[in-house]
Amino acid sequence: MSAAEKILPGHEKYARLFTPLELGHTVIKNRSIMGSMHTGLEELPDGFERMAAYYAERAAGGVGMIITGGIAPNPEGGMTMKDGDGNEVFAASKLQNEKEVEGHAIVTKAVHDAAPDCKFVMQILHMGPLAYNDMAVAPSPVKSRIGAFAPRELDEAGIEKQIADHAHCAAMAKKAGYDGVEIIGSAGYLLSTFLVEKTNQRTDQWGGSYNNRMRFPLAVAKRCREAVGDDFIIIFRIAAMDMLQGGMSWEEVAELARELEKVGVSIVSTHFTWHESAVPTIATMVPRAAFTSVTGRLRKEVSIPVITSNRINMPQVAEDVLAAGEADLVSMARPMLADSAFMLKAAEDRADEINTCIACNQACLDHTFGGKTTSCLVNPRACHETLLNYEPTPTPKRIAVIGAGPAGLAYATVAAERGHKVSLFDAADEIGGQFNLAKLVPGKEEFYETLRYYGRMIEKLGIALKLNTRVDTKMLEESGFDHVVVATGITPRMPHIEGITHAKVASYIDVLKGTKQVGKKVAIMGAGGIGFDVADTISHDGPSGALDKAVFAKEWGVDFENHPRGGVTGVEPQVAAADREIFLMQRKDTSVGKGLGKTTGWTHRLTLQRRGVKMMNAIEYQKIDDAGLHIIANGKPDILDVDTVIICAGQEPLRELHDALAAKGVSVELVGGAYEAAELDAKTAIKQASERAAAI
Ligand code: FAD
Ligand code: NAP
Ligand code: SF4
Repeated sequence: MSAAEKILPGHEKYARLFTPLELGHTVIKNRSIMGSMHTGLEELPDGFERMAAYYAERAAGGVGMIITGGIAPNPEGGMTMKDGDGNEVFAASKLQNEKEVEGHAIVTKAVHDAAPDCKFVMQILHMGPLAYNDMAVAPSPVKSRIGAFAPRELDEAGIEKQIADHAHCAAMAKKAGYDGVEIIGSAGYLLSTFLVEKTNQRTDQWGGSYNNRMRFPLAVAKRCREAVGDDFIIIFRIAAMDMLQGGMSWEEVAELARELEKVGVSIVSTHFTWHESAVPTIATMVPRAAFTSVTGRLRKEVSIPVITSNRINMPQVAEDVLAAGEADLVSMARPMLADSAFMLKAAEDRADEINTCIACNQACLDHTFGGKTTSCLVNPRACHETLLNYEPTPTPKRIAVIGAGPAGLAYATVAAERGHKVSLFDAADEIGGQFNLAKLVPGKEEFYETLRYYGRMIEKLGIALKLNTRVDTKMLEESGFDHVVVATGITPRMPHIEGITHAKVASYIDVLKGTKQVGKKVAIMGAGGIGFDVADTISHDGPSGALDKAVFAKEWGVDFENHPRGGVTGVEPQVAAADREIFLMQRKDTSVGKGLGKTTGWTHRLTLQRRGVKMMNAIEYQKIDDAGLHIIANGKPDILDVDTVIICAGQEPLRELHDALAAKGVSVELVGGAYEAAELDAKTAIKQASERAAAI
């Protein structure tokens, strides 16, 4: 019996989530979808085999339907289709010919073998002006703010070619064994650029009136249907709220959905952005299920099923959305990266064992947009299923893990899962290490979920947890462990400047824990991830936008109810200036915040700018005294008459325990911040610890 067959249909806690959906020619076994995500596997030489393992594991985990990462219908629509010499490269990210059908068939077979009742749908993605190659095409030669190349304007023959290529790609997908295709008509990719006046400046039958602007996406959908027949799923992904100034009006969105139904689309999927928009729609500061009311409105306009998405990361959230009548199907892309058995755990009433997506984007979208293979901060096996496995150990050992931060937690749980007998120690009275500070930052409330997950795993795997226990060499020498893992983390770096012990100096730990008062004029020394989080915390007043949709809407200028064009046209973000003056400083001369996450850094910079935080680079710190912080800025001495100086100047590893044990010949290793504090984040800590624990 496959894992998927163990699902108890109609589990009473999530009755709607486990209700099958009739589609006419076929049935989707439950209402969950793993949404499309590019993985970077598509471009690798062994990409088909790795995708087969990755998607098959998710299919076995009980999801109703999987939609692949975007696959281009032709070279001009692709992410990158040429090597350095301009030759076309063979990549899984395109589907146009028989050889590519053979490759995709490896993946469809693996998925259907793992779970015959899981629908497997390929996304057809024509990137249009966002294509990362010099063949990029678009309705008009309008370069996107985030595009790499100025697109060439399509002529009549070119438009016909694009339509025909989409239809051919859909037919090839059917041949490769997929159950359907999703055509992406959102996000600033080709089809969506026909719909919006800003990017469609044509005066022929493909531009001008809205009827003309809809003509191309409708023609693509219609021709795809003609190419595949009736027994094949066609999903069309629509920008239900594109977050563009002057974007699509609500009437245009609704009309497009109605017309798509007429040309034979099976399901409409709602998307809430163009990539160039200035509103975060999936980052951790976005409230859960923030956009589902928009899908609910669209659902009333059509009689075909509608998919909703964005920040739905637990079964109860999905169930609530379905119960509110806001969607027929719920798409969860990143949550299935984080936990491939998400639906299986929901079905077996084990939601507390779900490794929840915390919406950090650090190992998924930041990797995708950085040209690296996608993975997941909380699950480093994601997209590495053929490389990293937690096999039962033939030689169980007694292992002591010292430190229950992310590194120690990952090591302990992976080692215990493999059959080792693990004891986990922490000096604090709770597990989590620095995650207990991170979770206090407004907008980072999801970090609580990771701690809940590890807490449950400690129980389930029978790990002996000893809190309030500061471990020293003597304790370990006497206890007879076979192996010791030192995951003691870091200690904050205190810069060697005059006055560093002055009463107005505070560490970020003091500030986040609230053990030291922060004055009205504040200097933050160090503008890394923690400096930004501290600036965010002390410039923030009132409820967190991540927990309150009205606050989020106000801060980012979104009108969910009246739905002006794009949801944002004419709506000014309303951000209260901080009630204290804050200087966020670094010594480097690069722009402040440059090292933050690729896909989320801009949201942090913009938030602080809007609150009036002053960001300063190329600063030399001289001393701290009663007068304030003495600096040299732009070559000139200056005194910032601040009443608090918060130190966020990076960290140093805590390795004393390791070094003492190693000197006594104990079998010992270092993981996480204790191993390397520079460039350390939870992604690195969890990955390194998991890999080490998989190998012992
Ligand atoms: P730690 O988390 O420091 O854990 C070490 C543990 O060891 C502690 O619990 C400590 O009590 C224990 N310990 C130490 N000595 C002993 C001893 N002798 N005996 C017993 N126990 C001991 N990273 C990200 O990737 N993304 C983020 O968004 C993010 N945000 C952050 C926000 C803040 C405010 C902070 C402070 C950090 C953030 N980080 C983030 C960084 C991330 O939390 C760290 O990289 C990660 O916690 C390092 O894990 P670790 O297990 O190596 O160390
Ligand atoms: P960090 O990102 O390395 O930043 C340290 C800051 O301190 C830098 O601005 C650095 O800039 C400054 N600094 C370094 N040495 C200094 C010295 N001797 N005197 C004065 N300033 C000094 O480290 P962090 O902010 O402590 O964060 C720790 C880790 O947690 C990082 O890896 C970070 O990625 C992670 N984290 C991530 C997030 C996230 O949202 N993804 C959030 C929080 C933390 P200059 O050298 O230019 O002065
Ligand atoms: Fe979610 Fe972060 Fe994992 Fe991406 S890396 S799937 S956002 S937890």
